[in-house]
Parts: sequence; structure tokens; C-alpha cells
Amino acid sequence: MAQDLLSLSRDELAQVLASWGEPEFRSAQIFDWVWKRWVTDFAAMTNLPLALRTRLDQTFTPAPLTPLAHQVDEEATEKVLLGLADGEAIEAVLMREGDRRTVCLSTQVGCPVGCAFCATGQSKFKRNLTAGEIAGQVLHFARRLAPSERVTHVVVMGMGEPLFNYAATIKAVRILNDPQGMGLGARRFTISTVGVVPGILRLAQEGLQVNLAISLHAPEDRLREKLVPTGQKWTIGEILEAGDAYAQATGRRVSYEYVLLGGVNDGLAQARALAELLRGRLAHVNLIPFNPAPGLPFAPPSPGQVDAFRRELVNHGVDATVRRSRGTRILAGCGQLRGLSTAQQN
Ligand code: SAH
Ligand code: SF4
Repeated sequence: MAQDLLSLSRDELAQVLASWGEPEFRSAQIFDWVWKRWVTDFAAMTNLPLALRTRLDQTFTPAPLTPLAHQVDEEATEKVLLGLADGEAIEAVLMREGDRRTVCLSTQVGCPVGCAFCATGQSKFKRNLTAGEIAGQVLHFARRLAPSERVTHVVVMGMGEPLFNYAATIKAVRILNDPQGMGLGARRFTISTVGVVPGILRLAQEGLQVNLAISLHAPEDRLREKLVPTGQKWTIGEILEAGDAYAQATGRRVSYEYVLLGGVNDGLAQARALAELLRGRLAHVNLIPFNPAPGLPFAPPSPGQVDAFRRELVNHGVDATVRRSRGTRILAGCGQLRGLSTAQQN
């Protein structure tokens, strides 16, 4: 089977080319075609000798993702369903806000964690994505943007748990980060994790200045275990320690995400308990009002409660903002991605 070109770093590509007896500079040329000019066809790489183009074509597939369906909402948030070579499908989202163009990426088909409030978690976990399938989601949207637009930010908050697919996720970040390619600065990435402690500690040692978001969702372990099944593996105490290690190693403030579920974790006493945990840490809370999706047994909090919860945190010394999910009308909001075809969704 043809190899996935998008999964190769520039160094790996250079090694393949060297083994073919090609000069060093060819790897930069090809990387440029793929990641800066976004071509999907080797025939278009006109500065390469014909024989090399043919050999590349026989060896590699330059486009591992096939767009199957697009939805756009009234704020120009776009969701795409992307088919993979093995017949599976994932979703990715583009959000527009001012000059920002943020791509929300998936890292797995389904998710093995199975959080009670997340649509992705309800579907069966199928497999990890490759680095090319992850990074390719950014290319997909880069191609769709108007000439005046650029992808400026990437959030790894789509389907799946990125730190359970550590190697491919980090490789995708490095490929997108490569100055000879898209050159997206590490600080423009946010990786969101459900709190995989070994993965957070490893990420702290990567030497990458990416933003880390940790999904906490509860101020105490008993409730967290009900909402987040991996909570049985790592306690809140262990997760916060790992978050501190990340902040210390990178100097970057950690975001703690907290999905507000009406009547479950949105009480003011819970806000105070959360503040107690986070006060004094290099941390910040992102409150995400629950986005309903078919089959999820929770209700959103009232807008008044969201604001009261946020104020309680701030009054107790913890920075907090409310994240308004974009694209909820087209089921493109946080926790709404499922990778089902439009026909299956209806
Ligand atoms: N697996 C990772 C990243 C993907 S989920 C993680 O859990 O962090 C990205 C964010 O969406 C997480 O903070 C998650 O808790 C949140 N989320 C999941 N389901 C949601 C829902 N129904 N409404 C609002 N946010 C949700
Ligand atoms: Fe997986 Fe994150 Fe959804 Fe939990 S919230 S099921 S970890 S994608």
C-alpha cells in the first residue's frame, strides 16, 4: 500500500530521498509543495524531474483524507467530515473570529475514555490517527480559506484523547511547526487532555511551547470518576501536580477546562472547592457550558448559573473565563463531534 506522505517529517523525507540517490534540497522542495502550496498531486510539482515525480507517485499518497460532507453555520464556522483510507471517518472544525482562524483537530477515531457528557465518548473507539491524518486536517482547511485568510491557531480538542495517541500527535505538531512548511508557531497550539498524567509529564519535557489544557470537570474525585472514567486511574491531586510540572518546565499557564453540567457540577460550593484547588497555581479556568448532543443525559446550566460560578471562582482568587462554543447548531461544538456521516446523523 502507498505510504502516507503527510506523516513524514522533513528529515524522514530527506532520508527516503537520500536512499534514492536524490540531492538533499529535494526534500525542502517537496515539503514546500505539500505544506506551503498545498498541492495534492505530484504531477503539479513542476520543479522536480519527471522520473522523481513518477517514483513519488508510485510510493506515496499525498492526501490521506477525503472530504465527505461540509456544514457551515451563520458565523462561518465550518465542520467537515473526512473519510480515511480504511473507510473510517472523523470530523474537524474551522472557527473564524476576527483575524483568527482556528482549526480544531481530531486525534483518534472515537475515544476510549468515554466521558459521560461527550458525544465522541459514546461512539466506539476504533483507532489512533496517524500524524499525517492529524496534520492533514489543517491542510484541508488551509486549502479552503480565502487568499486573505490564514490558519492562525490549532486546538487539539476534537475527537479523541491526544495523549493516548502521543507520538502521532506530537509528530503532527512538529510537522505543522516546521518553518519550511506551514511554520505554525508552537505557542499557537493548544493540546487538551483529559488528564493523562504520564503524557503531561512527557509533554513537559518535549521542549515545545504549546499550551496545555486539562479537562478537570469536578473538584473532587468521586464526582470526577462518574463523569470521566479515566478518573479512576489518576486522582485530581496527581493531575494538578502534573499540571504544575508542565507550568514549571515551560513557564506557561495551564488552562483547566470545566464543562458545566446543570445541577451536577455547577453549584457555588463546587466553585469554591475548585478555587481552593487552583488558587496559587499558574492556572486559569475555562468554563464550558454543556453542549447537548443526541443521547447525552445532561442539561446545560442556566446562563445565570454560569456567570455566578465564574464570579465565585474570581472572588476566590482564580482567573476564569467562559468559553462560548461555536458551531453548536451544526453539532460542531466541544464534545459534539462523532464522525458520522450526515445521513447517519439524521
Ligand atoms: N479528549 C480531550 C480533548 C477533546 S475534548 C479532552 O477531553 O480534553 C475537548 C473539550 O470538550 C474537553 O474539555 C471536553 O471536556 C469538552 N467537552 C466534551 N463534551 C462536551 C459537551 N457535551 N459540552 C461541552 N464541552 C464538552
Ligand atoms: Fe474523549 Fe475528551 Fe470526549 Fe472525554 S471529553 S470522551 S476524553 S474526547
